[in-house]
Amino acid sequence: MIQKSIKFFYFEKLIENESMKRKITILGAGLVGSVLSILLRKKGYEVTIYERRPDMRTDTLVGGRSINLAMSDRGWRALDLAGLRKDIESIAIPMYGRFLHQQDGSTVLQEYGKNHEAIYSVSRGELNKKLMDLAEAHGVQIFFNQRCTHVNVSENRISLEDTQTGQSRDLTCDLLLGADGAFSALRMAYMHLDRTNFSQYYINAGYKELKIPPGENGSFLMEKNALHIWPRGKFMMIGLPNPDGNFTCTLFFPFEGETSFSAVQTSQEIEDFFKKYFPDAVPLMPDYIQDYHNNPVSSLITVKIEPWIYQDKSALIGDAAHAIVPFYGQGMNAGFEDCTILYELMEKYGEDWGEILKQYQAKRKPNGDAVADLALENFIEMRDKVADPVFLERKKIEKELGKMYPQQFNSVYEMVSFSHTPYAYALGCSQAQNVLLQKIQQQGDFFQNIQDENFKKQLEEWMEKYSQDVAQLNHFLS
Ligand code: FAD
Repeated sequence: MIQKSIKFFYFEKLIENESMKRKITILGAGLVGSVLSILLRKKGYEVTIYERRPDMRTDTLVGGRSINLAMSDRGWRALDLAGLRKDIESIAIPMYGRFLHQQDGSTVLQEYGKNHEAIYSVSRGELNKKLMDLAEAHGVQIFFNQRCTHVNVSENRISLEDTQTGQSRDLTCDLLLGADGAFSALRMAYMHLDRTNFSQYYINAGYKELKIPPGENGSFLMEKNALHIWPRGKFMMIGLPNPDGNFTCTLFFPFEGETSFSAVQTSQEIEDFFKKYFPDAVPLMPDYIQDYHNNPVSSLITVKIEPWIYQDKSALIGDAAHAIVPFYGQGMNAGFEDCTILYELMEKYGEDWGEILKQYQAKRKPNGDAVADLALENFIEMRDKVADPVFLERKKIEKELGKMYPQQFNSVYEMVSFSHTPYAYALGCSQAQNVLLQKIQQQGDFFQNIQDENFKKQLEEWMEKYSQDVAQLNHFLS
């Protein structure tokens, strides 16, 4: 009898714990919404997602938008937490460096890290489909064709429109997380709140997808394990490998100007342009003229907003909080890192969502802003600096400094892509490194200078100053 009541007591407690947990609504079953939903399920929450689009696993995607993404360490950490690494590794290809294609036909391979680290090419569509499968397998409910048209932030009420029937309904949410991307409905609603700060910035370049198909028997027509770049000053093309042997290429190109989307329109103009600027790619792209005509041009936006949260009721996550340009390959990675941090805060603060959301904003907002700035900086780097001899020399010096001062010096690229160092810290280091490298390069040939004792002494002093500057950024690490 006593035994029975103890059992009953524990059972009651279990129910109580379950029912104490808030029910979570996520807007958007994109990359971040799907990963987030799995992490929340792991913590025992009931999770429902409302997704604007049809189910991409049964509906075919609109052509010309099958972007490839580079997954780096921050992304993998969230996948590890969710127990998904193995599933995603099966659709990812490691890329160990940038493979540069110069206009004269010469090529250079720049390794990313000093320890042969890689970033991983994965198709956004394939990744999203797999994550949705996994989310459902974890017990997440996803409702498709459900567009959120309005959010009443103070009452935590969302309006949903069924995009197939046109019918609308309102739902009151317990806890609402907006993972609804760069044009988030929840973010739009936050913008109407008192004391919201907001900025958006479109760069003057857009992008268009092209393809390099596989060779015979699915072979790769270029180096498989690299991210290919054709840097051409005001524009560039990149190519990322896919498991079936093709490369998804993206042309980043100004909208207007002498060499731009508006200037290159007819088949003849397209052919002349490609033959002039990408002569080694043209023989590998049999359909480039057709693809150029058929595939849409998309724009690239940076969005910053404050606040990211509303009381203990709702929060923005992923692109909804920090849409950034893709030139550091970090949009998804940063969004997945948001999920990791949120998970860690759930571990720390249990059911105290007021504290969880407050800490989430405090930890992530400065890093969301910083990765946006780093990505814009890298736009310039990838587009025109990677072909510049002074810049190429700088990369070699950075690598050498990393070897000479392994405790003090890490390149910003390594910090961003191969560590979990906060982005805000990496941005600060980037500024300090610009000063350091400028001093070094002003002295001429580094690899010759380094033989000289006086230069070595000078370098020690500069490194000391660099370390002091960087130490002041330590508050970002706490
Ligand atoms: P999304 O993937 O945009 O998902 C948002 C979801 O919300 C979508 O499914 C959408 O349909 C849904 N939704 C939107 N509005 C509503 C609504 N009102 N109601 C309901 N649902 C809604 N990142 C990297 O890390 N590495 C890269 O190499 C990289 N390369 C990129 C290259 C390009 C050309 C571009 C454009 C982006 C790249 N990114 C990269 C960025 C990456 O794609 C995004 O950061 C990532 O997709 C963000 O995920 P998310 O889930 O926050 O948003």
